Amino acid sequence: MIHAIENDILRQISAEKAFEHIENIVKFGVRTAGSAAAQKTEAYFAKTCESYGLHAIVEDFTEKCYEPIQTKLTVTSPFSKEIECTAMMFGGITKAEGTEGELIFVGRGREEDFQGKDVKGKIVLFERNPDFSTDSFYSEVNLASKNGAIGAIMANYQPWPFNGTLESGLFKGEDRLLPIDPLIPAGCISSESGQFLKNALEKNALTVNLFVDAISGDRLTSNVRCLIPGTAFPNERIIICGHLDTEGNLGANDNASGLSIMLELARVLSEHPSKRTIELLAIGCEEVSSMGSLDYCRRHAADLKEIVCVLNIDMVGVGGDLHIITEGRWPDRLIPTPDWLYLFVKATAKELNYKVKFDICPLGTSDEGRFNDAGVPAVFFWKPGDEHYHSSLDVPEYVDPNNLKVVAEIAGLAAYRLANR
Ligand SMILES: [Zn+2]
Repeated sequence: MIHAIENDILRQISAEKAFEHIENIVKFGVRTAGSAAAQKTEAYFAKTCESYGLHAIVEDFTEKCYEPIQTKLTVTSPFSKEIECTAMMFGGITKAEGTEGELIFVGRGREEDFQGKDVKGKIVLFERNPDFSTDSFYSEVNLASKNGAIGAIMANYQPWPFNGTLESGLFKGEDRLLPIDPLIPAGCISSESGQFLKNALEKNALTVNLFVDAISGDRLTSNVRCLIPGTAFPNERIIICGHLDTEGNLGANDNASGLSIMLELARVLSEHPSKRTIELLAIGCEEVSSMGSLDYCRRHAADLKEIVCVLNIDMVGVGGDLHIITEGRWPDRLIPTPDWLYLFVKATAKELNYKVKFDICPLGTSDEGRFNDAGVPAVFFWKPGDEHYHSSLDVPEYVDPNNLKVVAEIAGLAAYRLANR
């Protein structure tokens, strides 16, 4: 049964107001961790919470970051043509004149694809596997480098460049960036550009020039905590979180959608304090290895036991069924969510007459993974159906504002009830 005060909360959540936050946030630009746009987003989150009379705490940490500045791929011989290309995150940075070499196609870029091919001094072109979706192209680019290639290009299976990364894709924080020696520049292109280059290679040898400029190295980034103090047990808290950084794109869905829901819940729940504290936590540096939530868990090791649970919201503004994730699968770890928590969220959704699905996440975990690993029950709200994930097409036009309200209602009611239990 939904109480009058709960009904009040649900009614006040505004899809329009949440969507306005997304429009405001994308105006800051591409907010890769450590960038000026990420800093502006941190300040926006804190200021908006403060405008509701809440206290915001900024917790800085240093992390290895990679901010692409400019990437160019040009066919230089036997004809001249520029090809749309984005930087592979954590790839090499070229000199001003770029890295130039003969282009060679190496299929999927697996060990067997390199056999019998002389890629030494050349730039390899490989295709992303549509049957095995991963963000990490460490293995392909590492193999290219080991075999003597001087650059690598990944062609997407979709008609836009996918922003890949050379992070290992492993859960263990220390293994986030495995060595590639020498580190070569790498770019990402669309399926159409990939097909064009393959066709051209069948007729002639091609020379291409890859230019990558980026800021790479340790940078300061932050988690921003906004607290709605509990009236009876202020030390105990329920966290609603979402990451604020993006993977080389505007991230209207990934994850301004999560930020917008937190800000809308900050506005509404600040008017309805509960027995326990509700913390709205904007996390820096989630892409791809959740280093921001790892910093939070390490910094707060002594008070993690005061956290009742974490509701993590990441990519819920675009299409498809709303999933409640029961387990994240990393290549090196399986991380389950405790049964009681996902069942509680599902029961809350059911009471609101919303349909949600349970599923595992084959890509690993979002920020909930670090909390579960640290023994704090955490669950992940996710819509897996965004085809524009990690591309320049993750823009507000594709976000349905009403999706934001649905997730804000489920997460808000679940948090409110847990905070008053
Ligand atoms: Zn995300």
